[in-house]
Amino acid sequence: MKTIDLSIIKNEEHTLTRDEAISILKLPEEHLDELIEAAFFLRRKYKGNKVSIQLLTNVRSGNCSQDCAYCAQSCRSTADIKKYLKISDERLFSDDKLVHDKPLSRHCIGLSGISFTDDEIADLARSISDMKKSGTQICCSIGFLTEKQALMLKEAGLDRINHNLNSSRSFYPNICTTHTYDSRINNIRMLKRIGFEICCGGIIGMGESEEDVADMLIDIREISPESVPINFLLPIKGTKLENRDTSSLTFAYCTKVLALARLMLPHSDIRCAAGREVYFKNNEETLFKIVDSIFAAGYLTENGQGIDDTLTLIKRLGYTGEIESRT
Ligand code: SF4
Repeated sequence: MKTIDLSIIKNEEHTLTRDEAISILKLPEEHLDELIEAAFFLRRKYKGNKVSIQLLTNVRSGNCSQDCAYCAQSCRSTADIKKYLKISDERLFSDDKLVHDKPLSRHCIGLSGISFTDDEIADLARSISDMKKSGTQICCSIGFLTEKQALMLKEAGLDRINHNLNSSRSFYPNICTTHTYDSRINNIRMLKRIGFEICCGGIIGMGESEEDVADMLIDIREISPESVPINFLLPIKGTKLENRDTSSLTFAYCTKVLALARLMLPHSDIRCAAGREVYFKNNEETLFKIVDSIFAAGYLTENGQGIDDTLTLIKRLGYTGEIESRT
């Protein structure tokens, strides 16, 4: 494969090909600064100096029937996590209040599991409808919905649904055998048709190749989601990937992945999700030249940096929090 001509990445009219995307992921480190500056140009052009900060509440935890290799909530996982069917309303609404009080950008609510009864969705819809009364922007990370269930959540005012592709189509059977990549694509298509905003990203560091990362981002580009969360694997004890070697997740490689996401989806929110505090520790200045979205605290079963620390950090670096939820 030829080395990429970096003048291409400055041309916004140009749609990056698969080979070019792979070349960016394999870019020699002496060209890293040039790549970061190209990503920074797009970040500034489309996102200004805003950082969208999301608060994540794990509404349902554990006991999932699926075998996703990275996930502490999977049926194969022996990770020591709290398991519950629905978090207390008290906790859910106090988290929602935090989104307004800080203020943050969006409340993300995650539910473990792949399918839900209509009664469970009706109950969730009631909670969403109550939170929407104060104007919170809400994104729900949830398994596969029937069209009827998706419409129930739409009716309740849910703004956005997160459904990640996680990896490429060809690598997917290595990380999950209980559902298919195409079932994810079909679910996202149905949600888009109904009119939801889409949040769709993936996980880096599970043993996939640069080609897999490029293929995943090409499929995400096709979906054109409002938000693209990129997670860097934090191996969790008790999961299939607990001993996964993450030495390939260097600062340079993680930066190239995020920059490629920015170049391929310049209008989308690019979020550095799980792994930010590990793989970008002390490199936040570079990180925010590329991404415009982060989680404030907590990634489901792994703890994240505290909310106040996050707000202080982005202010110190000259950014302002984007307030999407009305106070
Ligand atoms: S990622 Fe989702 S579907 Fe997969 S095991 Fe975890 S909770 Fe279940």
